[in-house]
Amino acid sequence: MDGTIPSAADLEPILETVRKLCAGFPGEYWRERDRERTYPTAFVQALTEAGLLGVLIPETYGGSGLGLTAACAILEEIHASGCNAAAVHAQMYTMGTVLRHGSEAQKSQWLPKIASGEIRLQAFGVTEPTAGTDTTSISTTAIRQGDKYVVNGQKVWISRAEHSDLMVLLARTTPKDEAAKKTDGISVFLLDMREAVGKGLTIKPIRTMFNHATTELFFDNLEIPASCLIGEEGKGFRYILDGMNAERILIASECIGDGRWFVGKATAYAKERVVFGRPIGQNQGIQFPIARAYAEVRAAKLMTREAAARYERGEPAGEEANMAKMLASEASWHAADMCIQTHGGFGFAEEYDIERKFRETRLYQVAPISTNLILAYVAEHVLGLPRSY
Ligand SMILES: Cc1cc2nc3c(=O)[nH]c(=O)nc-3n(C[C@H](O)[C@H](O)[C@H](O)COP(=O)(O)OP(=O)(O)OC[C@H]3O[C@@H](n4cnc5c(N)ncnc54)[C@H](O)[C@@H]3O)c2cc1C
Repeated sequence: MDGTIPSAADLEPILETVRKLCAGFPGEYWRERDRERTYPTAFVQALTEAGLLGVLIPETYGGSGLGLTAACAILEEIHASGCNAAAVHAQMYTMGTVLRHGSEAQKSQWLPKIASGEIRLQAFGVTEPTAGTDTTSISTTAIRQGDKYVVNGQKVWISRAEHSDLMVLLARTTPKDEAAKKTDGISVFLLDMREAVGKGLTIKPIRTMFNHATTELFFDNLEIPASCLIGEEGKGFRYILDGMNAERILIASECIGDGRWFVGKATAYAKERVVFGRPIGQNQGIQFPIARAYAEVRAAKLMTREAAARYERGEPAGEEANMAKMLASEASWHAADMCIQTHGGFGFAEEYDIERKFRETRLYQVAPISTNLILAYVAEHVLGLPRSY
């Protein structure tokens, strides 16, 4: 690609590929995974083989280099087709940190293998039990000793760690009270987990209310080569902030896909379900919530496209990325609630897939950043109100 942002028409062939692929993974596939809490390995494999996970990897490293707008369209379509991209999306959003701040040696070592599917980059280790959203208070440390770093600490909610070869890890290389600013002294590492598990890294799965392969990580004197450091030591917080905007835009796209799926399901059901001798969709009490959900999803999509376009043009996109993620996660949640209501009792039946999608889409008002923190960002950084925390 020449760096031009693709139009909806440009993206149509790739979306057709996504739709065809997703048709091979219908509701039964996801229900079984959900029931057994198993990772959708076959689905991930199919996406990888179709080259859909390498869209952010430049062509020189074996990807298609299509950019963020294309990545968003792919994730949206996966979700609109009733599938769930949560098993794979980190490969897209962690990519920015490696691409922008990784050394040439790191990029040529890993990116071609990630693009071909030989290596999986699906784990992003930021959150810690005591720091929570206050990332600068993380206490996992990486201390330089000659040609290695020694890592100690704990992470929580690190998704897909059991299904990834590499992890982008955030750790303190300088204690917070010794750093010039609290955002200094944090570093990013690209860690080969195959070399680490059992040698200082322990992974413990966490069972959650929906099928999400998330885990707790324990680091006990784990030694990693110094060459794992991405960019400069102590500058990691800035590197990942950059990537977080991409993450928010990509997650917003998944929410928009979910919202489209809920609206589509509800509309179809409202037309065919007959009660009191007429389709329930003839009642405004049923029509209006569907129409409102549709409008909310469309509006969130506009903000998400604006955010993606700004990001791709290299313009500041923090405001739009945050607002897109908030609006899209709320739109999908409202659509989910409307869809259950439209289906009455059947909304709760497993075979309709609605209750499963309802549980899945709820996450995005909390992770990767919760709504309150987005509102605090807009209040402080956009509107200039005093910092509240
Ligand atoms: C299923 C799942 C998967 C995840 N995957 C990953 C992953 O792969 N990698 C990773 O690093 N993390 C991951 N996370 C973590 C996720 O990013 C955090 O849960 C999220 O950022 C919120 O942090 P917390 O849970 O510590 O909440 P807390 O920071 O404890 O906040 C709790 C509540 O208080 C509110 N709050 C906190 N401070 C303020 C304030 N100053 N003003 C107003 N409200 C406030 C928050 O908005 C939130 O609603 C995942 C989480 C889940 C549940």
